Amino acid sequence: MGRIFLQHIGGMRLFSCAACDTFLTNRNELISTRFTGATGRAFLFNRVVNLNFSEVQDRVMLTGRHMVRDVSCKNCDAKLGWIYEFATEENQRYKEGRVILERALVTETDGFEEHMGES
Ligand SMILES: [Zn+2]
Repeated sequence: MGRIFLQHIGGMRLFSCAACDTFLTNRNELISTRFTGATGRAFLFNRVVNLNFSEVQDRVMLTGRHMVRDVSCKNCDAKLGWIYEFATEENQRYKEGRVILERALVTETDGFEEHMGES
């Protein structure tokens, strides 16, 4: 992975680390809000940046057995959720490569709109 390189994919309705405000993802990447994490409500995202990943863990969930990695903030190392590496149930395979962020651990804010020609 090398040195820390923070990315920004822009967009409206940004999600950032609640601890240090590092940008993580935006509303366009949001797939579902109907997930539950350790702290309560959790969101499933298509793409999230600026994460560190733990070793793969074998975890049995309500929806079956999954191989997951815990994800934490690349900047401050706060735990944020997990990523699905592999799902054993066929109907859960859509989650592979997708990231869960726990609602209580991220901050949702409005992004900056780009106004052309204004100063
Ligand atoms: Zn952070």
